[in-house]
Amino acid sequence: QERVVTPEEKQDDDFDKTLRPKQLKYYVGQKKVKEKLKIFIQAARQRGEALDHVMLYGPPGLGKTTLANIIANELNVNIHTTSGPAIERPGDLASILTNLTGKDILFIDEIHRLNRMVEEVLYPAMEDYGLDIMIGKGPSARSVRLDLPEFTLVGATTRAGQLSSPLRDRFGVINRLEFYDNKELSQIVQRSARILGVEISEDGSEEIACRSRGTPRIANRLLRRVRDYAEVKADGVITPDVVSKALKLLEIDELGLDRLDYRLLKSIINKFGGGPVGLKTIAAAISEETETIEDVYEPYLLQLGFLERTPRGRKATKLAYKHLNINEGDDEKT
Ligand code: ADP
Repeated sequence: QERVVTPEEKQDDDFDKTLRPKQLKYYVGQKKVKEKLKIFIQAARQRGEALDHVMLYGPPGLGKTTLANIIANELNVNIHTTSGPAIERPGDLASILTNLTGKDILFIDEIHRLNRMVEEVLYPAMEDYGLDIMIGKGPSARSVRLDLPEFTLVGATTRAGQLSSPLRDRFGVINRLEFYDNKELSQIVQRSARILGVEISEDGSEEIACRSRGTPRIANRLLRRVRDYAEVKADGVITPDVVSKALKLLEIDELGLDRLDYRLLKSIINKFGGGPVGLKTIAAAISEETETIEDVYEPYLLQLGFLERTPRGRKATKLAYKHLNINEGDDEKT
């Protein structure tokens, strides 16, 4: 199903590579993360050493890949990009590692999905820039250590909780990316509009910002959809009115919620008396994967305060009832 407000990368998001800031100073928001990285990057440059391994975590679309590329750019080194599921065997990782040249960045997205055997190759590589390989078979087999060039591993994950602790412990810098506020998102929209050559008013970008679910990827995607609408239905200029109309057509409400969010919230309210209800039960009720609910739907609904996680399951809050225009006690169970 085509979902405009999914934070995950979609095929037609290719355009947003051109919208990626290439320097730290153009990377909007994430103040704490930027401050930390700036210092570490400068220190590494001064010492002429590779930067310590960096972990970036947080919901999809918040700028982890962008940041990895910026780090490489600021350090003036190459970046090699891969992902946890793409590295199937230890040999795959060994070949990536031996192809690195001095102080390169190795970016592994979805690093929580590396398998155990591959992870074990990574430990000595991260710790001592060493690669242990087995030579020979049977009783005469022995392990030989190869030296790798110094490199920096940048790992990204949406689920820090799923990282094994030996892996997590080997990162020197751990950064959690936060949702962006509307002011920051509006800034991102203005910048993207400039790059795309679209005319947009200040309040127009604010109107897009507040429907972007705290997520730059969604902000850029909405901008593009609204631009289409503005060109066809208006005079090409994006104003709040154009944003409202365009997003109404796409069935996205003033907080950036779409039909799927409504379906989730309504299911908790109408089928389960507002909760608490277990994740698996919700997943079955709306035929979604539990992982999708946790990674894609919930973070923003929690952020809005529409959903609460309790030990007994998920609960819809008063705010959710209010936004959906349902009176508490009106749900079907009572
Ligand atoms: P992630 O890797 O976390 O899923 P990306 O790095 O691919 O997210 O970011 C998605 C898009 O959002 C990028 O293409 C970029 O254009 C935009 N973006 C993300 N973070 C920022 C930021 N801090 N400032 C400006 N644009 C950003």
